[in-house]
Amino acid sequence: MKRILYWFRNDLRLHDNEGFFRACVDADEVLPVFVFDPAAFAELPDLGFRKTDIYRANFLIESVADLRESLRAKGADLIVRTGPPAQILAELAETIGADAVYTSKEVTQEETNLESDLSKRLKPLNIDLSLFWQSTLYHVRDLPFSVAKMPDVFTQFRNKVEKYAQIREVIPMPDLIQLSINVNGESVDPGSMPTLATLGFSAQHTVDVRAAVAFKGGETVALDRLQRYIWEYEHIKTYKETRNGMLGEAYSSKFSAWLALGCLSPRLVNQEVRRYEAERHKNDSTYWLIFELIWRDFFRFVALRYGGRLFKPSGIKHDLSKRWRRDRVLFWQWANGKTGIPFIDANMRELNATGFMSNRGRQNVGSFLVKDLGIDWTWGAAYFESLLVDYDPCSNWGNWNYVAGVGNDPREDRYFNIYTQATRYDERGDYVKHWLPELANVPAPTVHIVSNLSADEQRKYGVVLGDDYPMPIINPNQWLKAQKDR
Ligand SMILES: Cc1cc2nc3c(=O)[nH]c(=O)nc-3n(C[C@H](O)[C@H](O)[C@H](O)COP(=O)(O)OP(=O)(O)OC[C@H]3O[C@@H](n4cnc5c(N)ncnc54)[C@H](O)[C@@H]3O)c2cc1C
Repeated sequence: MKRILYWFRNDLRLHDNEGFFRACVDADEVLPVFVFDPAAFAELPDLGFRKTDIYRANFLIESVADLRESLRAKGADLIVRTGPPAQILAELAETIGADAVYTSKEVTQEETNLESDLSKRLKPLNIDLSLFWQSTLYHVRDLPFSVAKMPDVFTQFRNKVEKYAQIREVIPMPDLIQLSINVNGESVDPGSMPTLATLGFSAQHTVDVRAAVAFKGGETVALDRLQRYIWEYEHIKTYKETRNGMLGEAYSSKFSAWLALGCLSPRLVNQEVRRYEAERHKNDSTYWLIFELIWRDFFRFVALRYGGRLFKPSGIKHDLSKRWRRDRVLFWQWANGKTGIPFIDANMRELNATGFMSNRGRQNVGSFLVKDLGIDWTWGAAYFESLLVDYDPCSNWGNWNYVAGVGNDPREDRYFNIYTQATRYDERGDYVKHWLPELANVPAPTVHIVSNLSADEQRKYGVVLGDDYPMPIINPNQWLKAQKDR
């Protein structure tokens, strides 16, 4: 009789889950477990906000609840616990007399520390720990180079993997799952799901009516979104042209949150895109979604290669020459969407109200914080980590490294002229007005630099600067001048 405890982490799905599939094949009985780690919801002492705020906490609870439903439908269950994961898992493994613990392999510091902690606790119990590579499009073992020698430039990385590596087939869902019981013949207590309140949140989770999408966690909704985005709405057909948009559910896939928690496998996305290409339509847009998933892979392999450097102000580049400001007043003006720069404020207010922001928005608010205000980029990354519903350690900290110019690709140290960006990607000012209703009557492009409005204009447009909307914390006319001088 072989028993395996399967520890679900950021692989909250039954489809294309190699670790769980193998556990079901290798064992006579499986105990699927998820552990909510209270440390993930604690307040960061230095910055005064939570490591994981309400949007992702809620999305995680929904995702775990959905997985539990799916497992129950297959005759099994999901054992749910809240507490220090390594300790809880080792105790459970011992209780059921497990021969092995299977789980997915993570790459970033806190996650790998947990793996080491668990491994140490399992050793004296004579229980093996097997780690499965799960989250990327290209499997780490299929890369045409060793991770230590992976190209620093994304284009070179992409060209090589596209040319020399194959994406593996999607792994099927396991059929019936034989749930493991306690060695004394009793069932293991399945445990109750935590709520936002038991995780320490006093507020309720609400969905802002202005949100691009109402994210709901779980594999079921993820598969539904995939199906609709590709097959029903066929947004995939125009993805390349729309992906830099900022308003509504259609401009980009919005797969990120489900990918981050593993509710959706990137290989399944790839399979569906390829099927769509074969059955309906193939163009640059259909390819481009895969291109973006390769960026996601790239940052995961970068994290694997560079380890703890990803999280330090000196970054992957180990650039100790850069000096960062730690001005809390400026930081909070940025974080609260009160900089007086409409394009920045609109994006930050969207993040604060919904837990999401477009890629275009992220690039701009990041550049503004780091290049215009000179603030320590790790504060910005930590703030994103707290609020983003799609937070992924590799994609978040990797992208921030690039925005801050401390990444490993020498070509990715760009400065964004915020006014140029705003007038290009929000030409009519619709996005800015969506999130800053106080500027609703200001015409574009003026709405992107309102600090030059005369008293008469302010009266005419119904906005009083310094009262209804803040004065800018830096002079935005530098961007106008730079644009004219080009
Ligand atoms: C400062 C900064 C922080 C970011 N933090 C995160 C994060 O924590 N989690 C996260 O998933 N993405 C992050 N991104 C990348 C990107 O902004 C989001 O993946 C994207 O906006 C999510 O929306 P979507 O799913 O509709 O994307 P789509 O445009 O539909 O792209 C499809 C998928 O490709 C991947 N992808 C696209 N762009 C990138 C990119 N630049 N880097 C890595 N993967 C990408 C995502 O998995 C995304 O879901 C960050 C970008 C920046 C500039």
